[in-house]
Amino acid sequence: MSLHSPKEVSPSPRSPRWIVLAWVAVLSVVAWRHVPVAYASHSHTGSTQLHISTIHGNNGTATAPGSLDEQYCIQSHTGSIDQTRMANFIEETLAKLASANIWDGTGSWKVDLWRAAKPCHQIDSATRASIGTEYHINTDWPNVSLCGTYYSCVVHDNPVYEGGHTHFKWMYSYLQAEHVSGYDTRARKFINHETGHVLGLKDPAGYGTDCQASVMHNDLYGCPSTVWYPTANDKAAVTRIGNYQNTY
Ligand SMILES: [Zn+2]
Ligand SMILES: [Zn+2]
Repeated sequence: MSLHSPKEVSPSPRSPRWIVLAWVAVLSVVAWRHVPVAYASHSHTGSTQLHISTIHGNNGTATAPGSLDEQYCIQSHTGSIDQTRMANFIEETLAKLASANIWDGTGSWKVDLWRAAKPCHQIDSATRASIGTEYHINTDWPNVSLCGTYYSCVVHDNPVYEGGHTHFKWMYSYLQAEHVSGYDTRARKFINHETGHVLGLKDPAGYGTDCQASVMHNDLYGCPSTVWYPTANDKAAVTRIGNYQNTY
């Protein structure tokens, strides 16, 4: 699941030098105790795994998605976020930037992201049921308990048992307007982090723990890394999920 503070902590520039040095010492110990390990990003494992059910395959063509590709729609629920501009921005973030910086194509194209032509609420119900992921943007989400007023979050629905575990046909990414309204790298950071949840990655065990170069373990979670895109570690973790090889 996904809870992020919209605020980031920065050290006070007015601290006496000895306090800064003391903190450097403490941070050095913390850094030593959290040396990044080879297996980076954590995933949901076991009999119930919180990821999109289409992650294990790729059966589309060059011009049309297949049933095992990742279709998504986007809907703004607030006048402060222009529907078309945000839809274009999310699509660019997920699929149109440099290949090293996007989720699209991960796992030998097991992650194959296709944006629906219309906003979610304008799609007929039968077609919408075949679209696995929805991105919704609003100024707050009082009726989505994981999100509430301050956090963006992902909610899973429609469980199905396949391939030895239960995964989910529908994923809902609820984004706070304040997190994405800048149309900047910070906005991409939230979009990529929540998409990491859709694809099966977990948050760190706690705030400021498990720090590493990962869009799931960055400064949104009290870590030093400010990376805004899915890293090689993140992509390797999703690839393992797709290949039924995730054990941590
Ligand atoms: Zn999260
Ligand atoms: Zn699965």
